Amino acid sequence: MSIVTNLNNVRNQLPNNVKLVAVSKFHPSEAVLEAYNAGQQLFGESRVQELDKKVKELPSDIQWHQIGHLQTNKVKNIVPYIDTIQSVDSIKLLLEINKQAEYVERVINCFLEIKVAQEESKYGFNIDECFAFLDQGSHLELKNVRICGVMGMATYTDDNNQVRSEFKLLKRYFDMLKDSFFKDQSYFCELSMGMSHDYQIAVEEGATIVRVGTSIFGIREY
Ligand SMILES: *Cc1c(COP(=O)(O)O)cnc(C)c1O
Repeated sequence: MSIVTNLNNVRNQLPNNVKLVAVSKFHPSEAVLEAYNAGQQLFGESRVQELDKKVKELPSDIQWHQIGHLQTNKVKNIVPYIDTIQSVDSIKLLLEINKQAEYVERVINCFLEIKVAQEESKYGFNIDECFAFLDQGSHLELKNVRICGVMGMATYTDDNNQVRSEFKLLKRYFDMLKDSFFKDQSYFCELSMGMSHDYQIAVEEGATIVRVGTSIFGIREY
């Protein structure tokens, strides 16, 4: 099946108010362009080098989302062009994004990545860390980042009940953070969860953004 057919299949399963980030990591710029020409503007990548390359090759009105773990020393590469960094998993990283964004006079949309999966390997904040950080209020002084919501991943498993309960938990964390710290910030409204194998469940549990790669572009060759 073609990329465009796959893309439309995924789109047809999403309610109008749910945004689709097409995850193009490990796929060539030609594949991105095919999806772009079919109207897709939002793309997700996880490796800075690959992103740098694609940004140079592809149309400038693409909105790029960084979705993979980001090292602080790579922040300055992507800050000139990145729309959203979904994978903010430490305070140190958030501070570095703010600093580098200030140099280039931009405001970067950031999602706090929160750990809800049982797997050991997943990056992300503990919810307690998030609360402790936001509670002391210093994020209010970060003028070059805009905290727009949360991102998370469920455990990679066939057990849909487990996946659903992890998404429910992430939604609960989102609601708690909204109520406690972002009540008056209408831009804090994004809940990014769901990938190829579990995005339907994520949508049922309140995702506003899903991140889908394999179902659009096919299997990645590492
Ligand atoms: C790779 C990746 C995705 C997309 O995964 P698929 O299973 O190919 O849809 C989504 N989110 C994150 C954080 C990823 O790293």
